[in-house]
Amino acid sequence: MTAQGASQKIATRLYLAERLFAEATIGLDHGRSHFLRSVLRLSRGAPLSVFNEQDGEWLARIDGLGKGWCSLIVESQRRPPAPESDLWLVFAPIKRARLDFLIEKATELGCSRLQPVFTRHTDVSRINLERLRANAREAAEQCERLTLPEVCESVSFDAFLADWPRERRLLICAESGPATAIAEVVAGDDDLSCGWAVMCGPEGGYAESELDALRQLPFARMVSLGPRILRADTAALMALGCWQAWRGERQGRPFGRTGNSGSGA
Ligand code: SAH
Repeated sequence: MTAQGASQKIATRLYLAERLFAEATIGLDHGRSHFLRSVLRLSRGAPLSVFNEQDGEWLARIDGLGKGWCSLIVESQRRPPAPESDLWLVFAPIKRARLDFLIEKATELGCSRLQPVFTRHTDVSRINLERLRANAREAAEQCERLTLPEVCESVSFDAFLADWPRERRLLICAESGPATAIAEVVAGDDDLSCGWAVMCGPEGGYAESELDALRQLPFARMVSLGPRILRADTAALMALGCWQAWRGERQGRPFGRTGNSGSGA
């Protein structure tokens, strides 16, 4: 790792699926080439950060660019690969602007998987997965993650119940019925090995039959987010934020800020 590669603050970050290694040359697609050349107005030699979950983050430079094309050359590694928290968000799809917001924020809050579930009162009939994945990628680029959350195909409520991996803890945000304060549940569980998930209902809330089914799950806890009815996006973000504050990366600091290495040192 060169000193420059590790410490320099580089404004432009790109997620690239290609393998990243010293001297790799990578051609960008039309959309990203256009973005670098015509929107950011970068030119040959400009530094970029490129990253993916396999190879971590690397310093790269623009090697050449023209109308609709751009090639990069990878120089040196800035950070080795590192996984995010093992935290999933299960959510009933909501209307487009709020869904875009939810995906962006859940990515910033370190979710490793985003799972849409169609519940009885979900009032959105279909979602555009490509759009959600693009939102997640942009958010990951902006917030300096090294991974993208996996945005899964949507499933029905019944399929979700049938296929859930039983060793994973599920925090169900329940707007009605008996529930424990989320902070109590998150702080009170001392099993450090299991993965976790947060689940939020749609704007119309859960159906009573769904709440009954969810209450039967041995791996799930019904949690309360307080006395107010929150919008679905607010509820999801509060639950994820609460989990991160109690169980998440308490030590980490953003990479390259205040002279640290992002490791909490
Ligand atoms: N229309 C419903 C509210 C739905 S709020 C009603 O009037 O009762 C959307 C989702 O946000 C809910 O399904 C639940 O998952 C979550 N939520 C909102 N407020 C909550 C609270 N105070 N505690 C726990 N979950 C909440």
